[in-house]
Amino acid sequence: MSDTPADAGEVREIRLNPIVPTESVLVATARSMRPKKAEELAPRDTRKHVETCPFCRGNEHKTPPAIMVWPEAGDWRIRMVENLYPVLGDDRAQSNFSFGLQQTIDGYGRHEVIIDHYEHGIAIHEMAEPHLAALFGVYQKRMRQLFESDDRLRYVLVFKNFGPAAGASIPHTHSQVIAMPVVPENVEAEVRNSAAHYAKHHHCIFCALIDEALTFEATIYDRSSGAVRRKINVGQYVIERGERFIAIKPFASRYEWEVHILPLAHQADFLDAATTDFDDLARVLKRTMARLDAVIGGAQYNFFLHSVPHDKERGAHAASYHWHLEICPRTSIPTGFELGSGLFVNTINPEQAAERLRAVDI
Ligand SMILES: [Zn+2]
Ligand SMILES: [Zn+2]
Ligand SMILES: [Zn+2]
Repeated sequence: MSDTPADAGEVREIRLNPIVPTESVLVATARSMRPKKAEELAPRDTRKHVETCPFCRGNEHKTPPAIMVWPEAGDWRIRMVENLYPVLGDDRAQSNFSFGLQQTIDGYGRHEVIIDHYEHGIAIHEMAEPHLAALFGVYQKRMRQLFESDDRLRYVLVFKNFGPAAGASIPHTHSQVIAMPVVPENVEAEVRNSAAHYAKHHHCIFCALIDEALTFEATIYDRSSGAVRRKINVGQYVIERGERFIAIKPFASRYEWEVHILPLAHQADFLDAATTDFDDLARVLKRTMARLDAVIGGAQYNFFLHSVPHDKERGAHAASYHWHLEICPRTSIPTGFELGSGLFVNTINPEQAAERLRAVDI
């Protein structure tokens, strides 16, 4: 950890992700080390209604029938439909293919789209807090229904791509739900490593990271005299703090403006979150997105909801895993170096990024 992160000049260090140590980030702020080229930001589509858009009101006939709508009566504000081009489906009864080292499992699952808002080009930070709270309610309700509908499902991934740089193919704001019979590798790695940490230290590593983020300064005392030997500014990683949720800039951020949101009280499963807590989650997310938007201007991002997998170990991981939302703004394109080495390159010191986000007046 840098001694003086806030006012440090050039930083060039490899930081290990504390939860998944095999995932490391090269923080290289020296200009000569900058291997990334900022991508030309596509102008954001801010129109409220687009006649030809299948996700806009009045064009409901252009999508498969609704699976869920909110509110249940009157004009819909959030609408959920099957994905027209699913990556997984339940209609293909395939036998498992296996030959030597080549193993596959059924591409069984569900792939659905949530039209987050009836307004075409609205961004998260422009949505009303009660609307965002309702959106999390829809995520949770659908996740529960999917797990209850088929016990082969191990994971339900809720994610959002916003903007062409983040891979959104339809400009109308939407999220996706993919229910699968396997656990995504990155979630599996988090679950495995946090369980190992728990076995050794008897506490949740995510809770420990929250505590660390809330520690602004560490003092090292001399062992014999008791005098202050050194004060270390451990950096301030808190971006936004609500009553029940906290937004943190990870110490080993893969993306320059990456921010994670976690419940302050330990909780492994997103399904266990009380719907009343979503008001606070909505507030923390909205304020965080407003900060990101102000700093990077028209944020294009992905977010991913990570929750404990529903496999046979679910109970065993209840104390060691902690659900969270990972927000990953896409401000640059991965280089050959990153793709070939598996090492993420971050050209902005995470402590300075946190400081800039916090400084936004909202
Ligand atoms: Zn639209
Ligand atoms: Zn925890
Ligand atoms: Zn995660």
